[in-house]
Amino acid sequence: MEYDESVLIKRSDGEPVTAAVDKPMTFHCAKCNTLLADSFGVCGESKCLDSIACLRVTKDVVIADASKVGHKGELANCVYSSVKCCDCCSTVGKVILSAPSHLAALRSLVLLCKANLNCYILDSSSMVKASTLTFDLKPLRDDIDMVMQQFEAKMDQMLCIRDRLAERSGTSELYVDM
Ligand SMILES: [Zn+2]
Repeated sequence: MEYDESVLIKRSDGEPVTAAVDKPMTFHCAKCNTLLADSFGVCGESKCLDSIACLRVTKDVVIADASKVGHKGELANCVYSSVKCCDCCSTVGKVILSAPSHLAALRSLVLLCKANLNCYILDSSSMVKASTLTFDLKPLRDDIDMVMQQFEAKMDQMLCIRDRLAERSGTSELYVDM
């Protein structure tokens, strides 16, 4: 294994503090290293479930047909199915089928448990435990505000051009009338 400073400096103390959202990486079963997903499918992290929320996973991830009902802890009042690694059959996460409102945003996403994952970081060619990384996405509000500003600036430009054109066509009509 090679180690990249930016990833592993913080690993020695075991603190999961390295933001990993922008780093391309693949997620592997910690037991057998089967490829389970990649960072392009990640849409956030659930701290309370210690899981990475994925929109897409590989065909080596199997969602169990049988569903379970959570009675205690974070999964109380949830209906969920286990997610297994197809190769070694170990449980690597879950899919929440039905949940109270505080977990509603996670419904139907594949939640890969960080404790059962290793991450291969492409830029540094290093394999690290998922628990050493964080996958928080930055809020979309800033991006939306920026796009709105750009849109409004374009709108002003277009209105300005329209007014100028209207002015010009008014002037040419005036010439024609004369
Ligand atoms: Zn496995």
